[in-house]
Formats: sequence, C-alpha cells, structure tokens
Amino acid sequence: MTKKQEIPYKIYLTEEEMPKYYYNVRADMKTKPAPLLNPETLEPMTAEELSQVFCEELVKQELNDTDREIEIPEEIRNFYRMYRPSPLVRAYCLEEKLDTPANIYYKYEGGNTSGSHKLNSAIAQAYYAKKQGLEGVTTETGAGQWGTALSMACSYFDLKCEVYMVKVSYEQKPFRRDVMRTYGAKVTPSPSDTTRIGRKILEEHPGTTGSLGCAISEAVESAVSRDGYRYVLGSVLNQVLLHQSIIGEETKTALDKYGIKPDMIIGCCGGGSNFGGLISTFMGEKIRGESDVEIVGVEPASCPSLSRGKYAYDFCDTGRVCPLAKMYTLGSGFIPSPNHAGGLRYHGMSPIVSQLYDDGLIQVRSVEQSEVFKAAIEFARVEGILPAPESSHAIKVAIDEAMKCKETGEEKNIVIGLTGTGYFDMFAYQKYLDGEMSDYVPTDEELQTGFAGLPQVNL
Ligand SMILES: *Cc1c(COP(=O)(O)O)cnc(C)c1O
Repeated sequence: MTKKQEIPYKIYLTEEEMPKYYYNVRADMKTKPAPLLNPETLEPMTAEELSQVFCEELVKQELNDTDREIEIPEEIRNFYRMYRPSPLVRAYCLEEKLDTPANIYYKYEGGNTSGSHKLNSAIAQAYYAKKQGLEGVTTETGAGQWGTALSMACSYFDLKCEVYMVKVSYEQKPFRRDVMRTYGAKVTPSPSDTTRIGRKILEEHPGTTGSLGCAISEAVESAVSRDGYRYVLGSVLNQVLLHQSIIGEETKTALDKYGIKPDMIIGCCGGGSNFGGLISTFMGEKIRGESDVEIVGVEPASCPSLSRGKYAYDFCDTGRVCPLAKMYTLGSGFIPSPNHAGGLRYHGMSPIVSQLYDDGLIQVRSVEQSEVFKAAIEFARVEGILPAPESSHAIKVAIDEAMKCKETGEEKNIVIGLTGTGYFDMFAYQKYLDGEMSDYVPTDEELQTGFAGLPQVNL
C-alpha cells in the first residue's frame, strides 16, 4: 500500500511561525502540582529559599501556576533560530513497511549537536543565569546529554559550567566528556573528593561507580557553597517542562498548517520533561474540553515509576539535600538493575506529569528493553534516523498502535516524540546486536525496599 502524499515528508515552520511564548499547562490544570518542600522543615519552599539554589527568574517560573503564556525572551529565540524549528516528519516509510492505515508523525529533537531536546531548556536556564549576573552554574549528568546541552548553552552566554558526571559514564563515554570540554565545561567524575557529600559517599562506598542522585547532591552542594553560582537541573522541575513546551507548541502549529488532528500522542518518560513539553499544548486543549486526544507515556519496565510507583513526597537526590517533590516514585534509593541500558533510569517523575496521571488524563505503558531495541532498529532501517534508546520506547508503542490500526482499519493520526539520536549509545546497541541484552523486571519485594525509604510527610 502506498499512500497518496498530500502531506509533505517534513513539515517545517517559518521563523514567523515559531512560538513566541512558552505554554504553562499548570494554568489550565484543575489540580495544581504539589509544591516542593524544604527537606529540613517539610514546609513548602518559599521563593527566597528556592533562590539560594536556583536563579531568580527560574524560581518565578517554578512557582507560577497561573500565567498561561510566558514570553520567550528575544535572546533565547535567537538561539532557537539556529537549530529550530525541529522537523515534524511524516513516517511514510515506516507506515509502508508496517502496511498500516495509521498516519505516523515524529517530532525529531536530535538534530542539534547535543543530540537531544535538552538544549531547549539549557539555553533558557543559561540565559536567566547570565541575566542575573552570575558567574556560572553547576549540574549533574548521567549519560551526558544534559551536560552536553548545558555546556553548549553556557558557552553561548559566556558562563562557567561545572558538570558532575556519574563516574561509570565518565569512564565509559569519554567522547561525551570531551564534547563538554570542547564547549568549555569543567567535568568532574562523581562521586568526587571536591564536595563534602562526595567524600562521605566515597568513604562509605569505596569503589562506587556513582549514581545520578549522588551527582545531583554534589552539584547542589558545589553551587550553594559559593557566591555567583546556582544549580540547574535538566528535567523533572516545572520550569524545565515549561521550556520544553516549545516542542508541543511547534508540533501543534505544524499539524494545524495541514488541518491534522492528532488521535494519539506518544512520548517516553524519564524525569518527564520531553513528554511534558510535547503534550502540554494538547493537554491544555484536552482539559478545556476542546479535544479528546489520547496521551500515552512510555517507561522502561525496569524503572516503572508511573505504573508501579507510589504517589508521595520523596527526595529528588540520594544525598537528600534537594527539596522534596510530590511525584510518582520508586524511592530515592531505587537503582535499576545493572543490565538496564536503555536510559530513563530516574526514580521519580515530574510533579506535573505525576498529577496529570493521577487525574486520569494520561495512559502509561511500560516496555522491556530488548523489544525497545528491536523497534529502534526497525525504525532506523526504514526512516534513516538512528534513535536514542530513550526515544525508542515511544517508537515501540507507536509501532504496536499502528499494528492495532491494521487490524481495525482505523486511520489514526499518531504523533511520536523522537527525543534524540542514538550515536552516543552504541554500547547499548552493540549489546543488543551481539545478543547479550537481557530484560529485568523488578519484583514487588525489590520495589518494597525503595518504598521503605520514602520520607514520612503528613500534609
Ligand atoms: C534525557 C533524555 C530523555 C529523558 O528525559 P526526560 O526528562 O524524561 O525527557 C529522553 N530522551 C533523550 C534523548 C534524552 O536525552
């Protein structure tokens, strides 16, 4: 079956059509996401307290539950113009291969040097830090995408950038580290002896290869213990989802140009930022009763925070120095099984996405990594793009949905968030291709260990 191609392969926007506002879905949410809590007093964090960790303007955005539109400053829009709009691609070749009546579109965020959507928020965060007159920012990175994006953003605004990189990735992904250094960042393997918390972890667990939660604690400590520095985070927070709303805004404008109404939007969920950003505009319409689009989040079966987690206040980091967030969580002590190679390994989920899920506005699927890589390769072979393992979670579910359409004859419009390229994930691809990838689904008893460490919060 070859379809008549009335819609172009790629739908681009002109510079004039590019979004001038971020869309703040909290303004339309009937139940607002719960506030962050001070880890010591367990009271909601005030703007003043948050300002000790984060930039002032970003604190305002974090706490803003009312303004639906927030203007994107001209300086940020200028940077976006260099690599956006990202293309919305009609997956004609995949449709033909699957022989499905479904119409599949993907929004591809992997076309910039950092290789993922993370640059959308990195540039905004760097801009506000610069505007506040700061000297630099600190952050953590796991696989390296966020650190790379932030390095690029900081070099553009001439800010110092210090990245704590999970030690195992630092050693296994030397090129990620060197891309960050190329953009001027200082990269430290975590845990390190440069922070109090790092030294404590090294003492208690000598030889540890680190974790994201531990790297977060080090980055926060390093920012709050010096003047002129603030900490920035690449996912989970309200402000990050706000910046990522540019993905959904562009997608909506592109679809509208051809009068296309999506029936289903599918994205992958780690901390929830790309997914939250992709769906925000469409979720607003759904909440206001203007559409009944199905919205599907996909997570790894080995790190199932939405499908099997608890909706509770939890620590965002292992060192327990960050504010507490109410979210679907597996507990901050949860660590996915060592054979897990597909990314999306954070223990919690963004408070916005968590609340939307709790309100029944989002469906969740969890998938095992070998089927994810199978889908990734099927996609790469027909569509050309080598997808990031994270993105491939969404591809896997989109292919399943397209096959259902083949049975029912439905001509659904399916939109996938394709968050990045897989070029830096070739170890994981190699494992799959060599037949060495296994799946692991944690037992209820194993999850119980993580839940047992949840803090007691009575609100
Ligand atoms: C970081 C990352 C993700 C997951 O993070 P979210 O905050 O859940 O979006 C997904 N895809 C890619 C390519 C990433 O780099």
